[in-house]
Amino acid sequence: MGNRLFDLTGRIALVTGSSRGIGKALAAGLVDAGATIVLHGANTERLESARAEFSDRLPAGRVHAAAFDITDSKAVTDGINWIEENVGPLEVLVNNAGIQHRVPMLDLEVEDWDRVIRTDLTSAFLVGREAGRHMLQRGSGKIINICSVQTDLARPTIAPYVAAKGGLRNLTRAMTAEWASQGLQINGIAPGYIHTEMTQNLVDDDAFNSWILGRTPAARWGTVEDLVGPVVWLGSEASNFVNGQVIFIDGGMSVVV
Ligand code: NDP
Repeated sequence: MGNRLFDLTGRIALVTGSSRGIGKALAAGLVDAGATIVLHGANTERLESARAEFSDRLPAGRVHAAAFDITDSKAVTDGINWIEENVGPLEVLVNNAGIQHRVPMLDLEVEDWDRVIRTDLTSAFLVGREAGRHMLQRGSGKIINICSVQTDLARPTIAPYVAAKGGLRNLTRAMTAEWASQGLQINGIAPGYIHTEMTQNLVDDDAFNSWILGRTPAARWGTVEDLVGPVVWLGSEASNFVNGQVIFIDGGMSVVV
């Protein structure tokens, strides 16, 4: 009985940026919980390769793919409308796609600042607004914004990322302020340092790796599997009275100095 609380059978979920990385792992986790998944990315070849991989182990109809640029308002509207018309009612949206840009602030070009803010923050407004339009008509829906420990903690050389991820927490609250009374739950997760292909070089760097192990109360890197449970929870009925929260999944890094 308890497990039914987390059951997503028949629910349609879109994870932005699920052609690779964390988004792909979250999409797989939502599928394991029963969801019909819409994979997403900008690069159509990478997206198609992820779709083919998912299709190998899923019945037809459980996996779909939509390519659109999350920073382009018109493309987002068309993309969400396509999903609603061709896949069905979107019930779970995970705003995951994002980018990083590392440079000291004095050398930071405004174009790069704008690009990161647009990709990591404005996109969640654009995709959330269009998905929200449909969800509000039905009086239900779950939006999960993928934040970061940088939602709370700054680091040198990543100013626009820190600003965007901090903004994403308050966007989560702003969406809650307007939409919670109409049946939507909007929450976020804030992953700490996650061992992925992208961070393998940091894991292999003895000095950085020791810093992470010492700085993280759980004394280890996170894994993408660590993120799946909280996302399934926030996408399911088990979280129906959880509104506007950002859950830190960081082995305790953000609460201990
Ligand atoms: P990746 O770089 O592995 O993947 C990014 C995904 O976003 C890709 O699918 C990419 O599509 C898509 N994407 C990027 N820009 C756009 C765009 N303009 N339009 C459409 N799709 C786009 O990212 P990660 O898996 O590392 O990170 C995912 C999220 O998790 C991000 O929000 C990140 O900030 C957050 N995060 C990551 C951590 C980590 O340790 N990696 C830790 C904490 C948070 P395409 O393949 O077509 O380029």
